[in-house]
Amino acid sequence: MGYLKQIDIENFKSWRGNKVIGPFAKFNCIIGTNGSGKSNVMDAISFALGERAACLRVKHLRDLIHGAHIGRPVRDCARVSLRYCDHEDQDTVFCRSILGDSSEYRINGVHVSLAKYLEELQKIGIVTKARNCLVFQGAVESIALKDPKERTKMFEVISQSKEYAAEYDQKKEAMMKA
Ligand code: ATP
Ligand code: MG
Repeated sequence: MGYLKQIDIENFKSWRGNKVIGPFAKFNCIIGTNGSGKSNVMDAISFALGERAACLRVKHLRDLIHGAHIGRPVRDCARVSLRYCDHEDQDTVFCRSILGDSSEYRINGVHVSLAKYLEELQKIGIVTKARNCLVFQGAVESIALKDPKERTKMFEVISQSKEYAAEYDQKKEAMMKA
């Protein structure tokens, strides 16, 4: 299974100029004091996965530019690149940039449509439609309050385990008979 290796950021939310977050391990934990930017890391990842502004705690995309929250954006553009390492140890860089309120998507530096971008993410196992793969601030409670069946369904979508359900049932049945 692949994993997120590094995030490269330019003028996005709390980061001014070019910053590198990482390298990450396969399991990571972000800690910090209130307001230090923990949720902004998740916002940066969600942004680069094509998320809408409303889910990134801003009204307009341009509000994501460093300084925009106090009405003083440092530039008119921002960028987040996610470097993914796949199971064959190959890196792919997914990059979303904003210029004003429009977005541009690149894979390994090549400009692509949003549809192609999401398709390529899906190929390496990142289902951006299953937005619950990122638990936004405040969403923990709503997940905890779901009924167990709904919660199971949600995790099946996130983990893509549903694809293997039929095979699993078949093998289980065969084992029971043996
Ligand atoms: P908490 O523990 O309270 O959840 P947190 O670590 O998750 O805090 P964030 O919400 O990620 O903190 O970050 C908040 C900080 O991000 C604030 O200090 C805010 O000033 C800064 N911030 C948000 N948007 C921008 C922006 N466009 N430009 C610069 N800084 C920004
Ligand atoms: Mg937070």
